[in-house]
Amino acid sequence: MTEEPPVPTNPSDYVTPQQATRQRIIERLIEKGGRDPQCPICHQKVFAIGAYVHLAVSSDASVAQLGRSMPCVTVMCMTCGNVLLVSLLALGFTREELAQMPNDA
Ligand SMILES: [Zn+2]
Repeated sequence: MTEEPPVPTNPSDYVTPQQATRQRIIERLIEKGGRDPQCPICHQKVFAIGAYVHLAVSSDASVAQLGRSMPCVTVMCMTCGNVLLVSLLALGFTREELAQMPNDA
């Protein structure tokens, strides 16, 4: 009998950006108007920057295209666990900047 690994419930349980990078992401979110975000589910206001996620994207609705992705970062509501995905490119980070972003791995 194998035990399933526990499901991480805290963003710090995942590989997350280093503090300096998290701060840069937060600054970009604030620049975009995210100064006082409120969770659409629980209406609380405590969030944490979590792991990077690469969404697979495709110009073809019927098939995935390997190697194409939208780099995002998770923003998790610390009360109810609602997870938002924010595009790092839309926040103004270039692909070159993303390639130089360290992580805690
Ligand atoms: Zn919430």
